[in-house]
Amino acid sequence: MEIKITKNWYECKDCGFAVDVDDMLKSREGLSSICICKECYAKRKKLFYKTDYGGNYCRQMSRRFAKLHPERIKEIYKKWRQNHPEKYKELNNKRRKSFESNPNNKIKISAHSKVRYALKIKKMFKKPCEVCGDIKSQAHHPDYTEPLKVRWLCQKHHLKLHNK
Ligand SMILES: [Zn+2]
Ligand SMILES: [Zn+2]
Ligand SMILES: [Zn+2]
Repeated sequence: MEIKITKNWYECKDCGFAVDVDDMLKSREGLSSICICKECYAKRKKLFYKTDYGGNYCRQMSRRFAKLHPERIKEIYKKWRQNHPEKYKELNNKRRKSFESNPNNKIKISAHSKVRYALKIKKMFKKPCEVCGDIKSQAHHPDYTEPLKVRWLCQKHHLKLHNK
């Protein structure tokens, strides 16, 4: 469904202004049948993503995209981080706070801080990843109630273990 272009301006059905045909929303060969300008379309899209349905749809699409193009997402995310260092910090803080305020995570946090302390006083030593030998390793706790019993894994193998 589309409208054949016959004049060089149209009345936008949303804002009611006379809009130059170049600024109207297009379909493949003519005007989109909803007959609104590009600006109003952007507004509609924004509103749509604010609804539950729209938000879910948006998240689903981006999840699908992330699955298909993981490198692209990494790149986009990195760029965003570079361009918004303040926002990134804020987001990170928020994430940390909500993580810390969850009682289920208390034991994890305390286990990790015990490891940090043990490393500091040299009661414990960091080891390379037990799978690939990467020296940038992280402590993995098979059991958080035993905070000093850890396995050392690089980020990749650590994630792999958790995603099993
Ligand atoms: Zn409009
Ligand atoms: Zn590894
Ligand atoms: Zn772990």
